Amino acid sequence: MAKPIITIIGSLNTDLITRTTRIPAAGETLITSSYDTGCGGKGANQAVACARLSRKKGSAAEEAGCAVNMIGAVGDDMFGRDLINELVSNGVGVDGVRVKGGEKSGVAVIIVEEESGENRILMSPNANYALKPSDFESLPDPLPDLIILQLEIPLSTVLHILALAREKDVEVLLNPAPAAQLPREAYLAVQHLVVNETEASIITGTTTQTHSWALWGEHMERLIGLGVRHILVTLGAEGVIYLDTELQRVLRVLGEEVAVVDSTGAGDTFVGAYAGALAVSGKGCRDFPHVMHVVAFANRAAAKTVQRGGVQSAIPWRDEVSLEST
Ligand code: ATP
Repeated sequence: MAKPIITIIGSLNTDLITRTTRIPAAGETLITSSYDTGCGGKGANQAVACARLSRKKGSAAEEAGCAVNMIGAVGDDMFGRDLINELVSNGVGVDGVRVKGGEKSGVAVIIVEEESGENRILMSPNANYALKPSDFESLPDPLPDLIILQLEIPLSTVLHILALAREKDVEVLLNPAPAAQLPREAYLAVQHLVVNETEASIITGTTTQTHSWALWGEHMERLIGLGVRHILVTLGAEGVIYLDTELQRVLRVLGEEVAVVDSTGAGDTFVGAYAGALAVSGKGCRDFPHVMHVVAFANRAAAKTVQRGGVQSAIPWRDEVSLEST
């Protein structure tokens, strides 16, 4: 039987990561504790997470439970070549990564505050924004079983792909990050929506950000109103809320208690683990107890990422995350 195909359409960035004891104030210069570079971009991170979490560390790409393909754009520069090579070394298909002459590859400047593990990110999209609707006359052949989208490529391209996916009845997971309000009809093409608290507030136009269940009711009502069947709200250290709006079931998975080194990429690991585990299981989403296990698995996978430095390099492999809760 052919393996499920997951296609990620999104960004590839080089991360320039500094670690600091605290965030500098306006006009202040601080000496960093360390500096590193790494491959990133939400699209590429999620592709690596899907690929790693569907196969054992060190195993051949053919042993993966699903085929993972990346579509995106880089510049004709050293950063771009490294970004492509890193995907290949993780077993991600890169035929869909275009090299845009005259563009620079995307760059993200990341500041990690050591004590909290929290990050602040400045993104220069560069070649990512050269990925236009005209690059997609149609969806790839063979059609993917799942398309994963974020918002680090032009919104017009995302909306075009959503329209194509709806026309061809291809399942879509949307992670609307960085958050932006989309037209209501865009959500008609989306079956899985993964948002953190900030994204939940912005896409629903709710200003409050809170862990209070009373106010969460308002967020949830608005999220449900978007008409997406599977809604996942990630809550950082607090875990995740999963809603199946068709079965009207809610699941709250508590965060794993772990020592945080760097939370960058936790959300991307969560998305990749959830998508990869669902695809590999072949059981789909109709069975709530099964999806519960998948959500809990993704929560544990993301908790592994926060215990390590780096972004793509911090994403665990399939055999590093236990299948059952301990
Ligand atoms: P990022 O942008 O840093 O990649 P995000 O803001 O998109 O992340 P979060 O809600 O912060 O997403 O985290 C995603 C998931 O990662 C959480 O739902 C949880 O499973 C896991 N996670 C994040 N932070 C922690 C933590 N401190 N301890 C345990 N698990 C965590």
